Amino acid sequence: MDLKIFDFMSHDIGIDLGTANTLVYVKGKGIVINEPSIVTLSKKDKKIIALGREAREMVGRTPADISVIRPLKDGVIADFEVTEEMLRILIRRVQRNVFLVRPRVVVCVPTGITEVEKRAVKDASERAGARDVFLVAEPMAAAIGVGLPVHEPVGNMIIDIGGGTSEIAVIALSGIVKDTSIRVGGDKMDAAIIQYLKKNYNLLIGEKTAEEIKCAIGSAYPLPEELSMEIKGRDLVVGIPKTISISSEEIRETLNEPVIAIVEAVKLSLEKTPPELASDILDRGIIMTGGGSLVKGLDKRIADETNLPVNVVEDPLLCVVKGAGNILDRMGDYKKVFIS
Ligand code: ADP
Ligand code: MG
Repeated sequence: MDLKIFDFMSHDIGIDLGTANTLVYVKGKGIVINEPSIVTLSKKDKKIIALGREAREMVGRTPADISVIRPLKDGVIADFEVTEEMLRILIRRVQRNVFLVRPRVVVCVPTGITEVEKRAVKDASERAGARDVFLVAEPMAAAIGVGLPVHEPVGNMIIDIGGGTSEIAVIALSGIVKDTSIRVGGDKMDAAIIQYLKKNYNLLIGEKTAEEIKCAIGSAYPLPEELSMEIKGRDLVVGIPKTISISSEEIRETLNEPVIAIVEAVKLSLEKTPPELASDILDRGIIMTGGGSLVKGLDKRIADETNLPVNVVEDPLLCVVKGAGNILDRMGDYKKVFIS
């Protein structure tokens, strides 16, 4: 028999349980799962039928006895049972081979998570086969993932704009010194686009189209060259499909409300930051992560309104799970970052 000793050792796992996307890192393998946080459920027994992309394909096409849900939609665990089962499926999927040593699991969670939710995440991971479960706040994992010196006595500000929430955290000495979390993120932007087209063009579009518009021409600051886009939807008056052309200026105006909410949260967080750390942030600038940080000009807008340098990281959608990976690689160095 070909004895592959490493197959018998555990593959420790890092999970970014995001409101929009779920990513799983396996030690020694890298990122092995990157899927939307969507599941389809059988209405009868609430069992998960499909997860991720497969589930998203079913949106709008499901028979009556199947429902599609996003269990983490608003940044908190909206549905415990489903989130638990989702965790179990994910852990089992990457642990398909027989293993002798059970894995350690690092799960990245929102900073605002309640005690009950922490328990639920831990229990679910343990039931799925984890030996030990460690929880890390998402902004902390993101900071580690982009290589910020989180252990040092200097302040770093991270703005993580996800689907359901935006979190602003000031990190120093391996801890989160100040945290502001709002339930405004990419989803609210999509919703604003849907509303705008309905109200001004009598055009009905779905969430997927709204997201595409946001990614293609959405912005928070005047663009060097303004853009436009053809949009297909259903006319609400006559009920038939129609196509309209829309400009990036209109979409920018539409996104202004969620953008202002984010900017205000950043300002509030800066006001609450102790002066020494605030002066560090002034020197070092603000780091932006999460998919929402890719909205064109959002970095410029925040820089403009705060008079601080703002930098979007290289892999905004991956840095949380990469941080979990870094933690797994050097567990001993990161003891202090775990949520107790
Ligand atoms: P979460 O951590 O909540 O799962 P993510 O960090 O994965 O969220 O970010 C998902 C959000 O980022 C979604 O709202 C998505 O539409 C948005 N997003 C992804 N890519 C882009 C882009 N290129 N431009 C604008 N928004 C984007
Ligand atoms: Mg996230």
